[in-house]
Amino acid sequence: MNIHEYQAKALLRTYGAPVSDGRVVLKAEDAKTAAGELDGPLWVVKAQIHAGGRGKGSFKEADAGEKGGVRLAKSVEEAAEEAKKMLGRTLVTHQSGAAGKQVNRIYIEDGSDIERELYLALLVDRQTSRVSFVCSTEGGMDIEEVAAATPEKILSFSVDPATGYQAYHGRRIAFSLGLEGAQVKECVKLMGILYKAFIEKDMEQLEINPLIVMPGGKLKVLDAKVGFDSNAVYRHPDVAELRDETEEDPKELEASKYDLNYIALDGEIGCMVNGAGLAMATMDIIKLYGAEPANFLDVGGGATKEKVTEAFKIITSDPQVKGILVNIFGGIMRCDVIAEGVVAAVKEVGLKVPLVVRLEGTNVEAGKEIINTSGLDVIAADNLSDGAEKIVKAVKG
Ligand code: GDP
Ligand code: MG
Repeated sequence: MNIHEYQAKALLRTYGAPVSDGRVVLKAEDAKTAAGELDGPLWVVKAQIHAGGRGKGSFKEADAGEKGGVRLAKSVEEAAEEAKKMLGRTLVTHQSGAAGKQVNRIYIEDGSDIERELYLALLVDRQTSRVSFVCSTEGGMDIEEVAAATPEKILSFSVDPATGYQAYHGRRIAFSLGLEGAQVKECVKLMGILYKAFIEKDMEQLEINPLIVMPGGKLKVLDAKVGFDSNAVYRHPDVAELRDETEEDPKELEASKYDLNYIALDGEIGCMVNGAGLAMATMDIIKLYGAEPANFLDVGGGATKEKVTEAFKIITSDPQVKGILVNIFGGIMRCDVIAEGVVAAVKEVGLKVPLVVRLEGTNVEAGKEIINTSGLDVIAADNLSDGAEKIVKAVKG
């Protein structure tokens, strides 16, 4: 679960991290008051969306030469003006997808003078099953290029959970970032703060890009991107409150209500599968036969007819879907339950695209019988590759 920059900064402030003063603005008419509460002489006006790269992003139907989603202003009036221009418009960044994201919240922040922009992140390293620090002297808006072209400029190491964060971790980061004197101590303290917040709040990502060195030498968190482990959010009601459902894919949101493991993708073949492994294999084989999956969907081991019906509805509500492949191996799941769900869903929402069904396992005969006598226009498949081949052929001809 991701949150906005202003929420992340408010959270980090409670742990003692150095962040600028700022105000969130939801309505254009509040922008001037918000900006007026900050000291100046520099204001930063920042679009709040759950995607990075805002500074380099561009608005849809932007005027020639118009700036991106992070703008500097020299007066309260100018800050308010920039906030008004951005609110309600759609910002496209390299992380937002081509459709972009509508800007419904603006953060106006007291501007900082920057001497150096550094990169810092904490994340869960799945290879070592530990929390890792990642840092680089080359912070700012081109970190992706740095990672691709000069990976040696990025330092990464993990923290042993038995010892937790130690001062030497912080010193290692400080030296690799070229910090000196009092900055080293400041860095050691800040890394401890970030590590504590990361662990206590069950984060899965905490990215500070840039972490800046100001002209006086002090450090400041200038941007913050925080994601939490969704499976642990139940332990943190304060974090759950920060969820902004308007930032989420409506299909994924609907799926989460029914406890379906659903991820929207860009392809044209909708998939309904049980078991994450089989779902992955199904996506692979669709690609092998020359098409792209429109989603990952694992209906789970003990899915009910209602759950299957909802899953089917979510798939068919996606206008990108040009064909559907149902691929079920009935181990715990019974094929007749799946078949009933599919038939019920099709009766409710109709079927406008080809549907291939492959059933195997428990109660497979009963399941096939339900499909065959339903009067639905279903293409039956005998195995996984047969199913993939048939749906790709039905869609691509
Ligand atoms: P992102 O593009 O979504 O990563 O947004 P950031 O918050 O990282 O802002 C992008 C860039 O704007 C930063 O890398 C800075 O160069 C610049 N920026 C952001 N805040 C300030 C500020 O307070 N003062 C100055 N001078 N530049 C800023
Ligand atoms: Mg940034």
